[in-house]
Amino acid sequence: MFFTYEQPEFDRKDPAEIRRVIGEAAQNGREAAREGRCADYIPELAKANPEDFGVCVRDLSGETVAFGETEKRFSIQSISKVINLAAALKFLGFQETFSHVRMEPSGDPFNSILKLDTVSEYPSNPMINAGAIQVMSLLSNFMDFDELLTFARAFCMDDGIELNEAVYRSEAETGDRNRAIVYLLKSKGVLCGEPEKTLDLYFRMCSLNVNAGSLANMGLLIANGGQNPFTGKHVLHPGYVRTIRSLMYTCGLYDESGEFGVTVGIPSKSGVGGGIVASVPARCGIGTYGPALNAKGNSAGGIAALRHLSHLLKLNIFD
Ligand code: GLN
Repeated sequence: MFFTYEQPEFDRKDPAEIRRVIGEAAQNGREAAREGRCADYIPELAKANPEDFGVCVRDLSGETVAFGETEKRFSIQSISKVINLAAALKFLGFQETFSHVRMEPSGDPFNSILKLDTVSEYPSNPMINAGAIQVMSLLSNFMDFDELLTFARAFCMDDGIELNEAVYRSEAETGDRNRAIVYLLKSKGVLCGEPEKTLDLYFRMCSLNVNAGSLANMGLLIANGGQNPFTGKHVLHPGYVRTIRSLMYTCGLYDESGEFGVTVGIPSKSGVGGGIVASVPARCGIGTYGPALNAKGNSAGGIAALRHLSHLLKLNIFD
């Protein structure tokens, strides 16, 4: 049982030992991936290879350890919600952003529409579809896709990020649930922008092609208080980074955030493309890729790998 997980004694500062543990995490991830399946509600995502698995860990000095499929590009999906929120905080500020979306874990699946009709017309948080669509409606009045893409590249320290056209088209053709969300928000009078423009930007941001390395970079930027540790450039104010970490921790894995928070204890965000970004404050960023998902829509392999890393390298933020 993971609750009584033993932590073997070894030198956690020894690079060879760290490398060994990351290799074990990759192996655990690859094995756990056998229990999951690729998302298919966006048809293009069903084409991924469920056996793929990769993990990339990068620390503040740029030291990188990677195992498995860490170069392969895949769509960022819900991890873009972190970028959208970061853009909203940076360009519009805390007060404006959170006067349109709440900051409560929803306890519901990522694409749920339920609480918009039963609890509050304002979406629970920016890490679920309804909240991210609401944030995008706000951003749509100030930023176009090219500006969001430029920001995404800076936030992931990866100029190779491009739009995956096939995923974008696939999602735009089949995204009726998100269409329902945007029009429900409009009917309640809370949507901040034009619905189709909002959805188009939301779908495009979900379709950005990243790899485990870009996700490790994103985690690293967040771990470093919003500053690119290699260029010194400040991408996001540390106060906003704190808000983002908190929301990743409490809401980043949808209705699995609580269990993940207890068993892994690292601010993280998942996407149905198979990625998870994890950010260990002042230490490192971790990106995992494993498109086989569990029942909650989170990467089965990614969770197993992060659990191993957290326990053995003592990365839980509450340790
Ligand atoms: N693009 C996906 C959607 O809107 C993102 C969901 C996810 O990654 N959980 O359904």
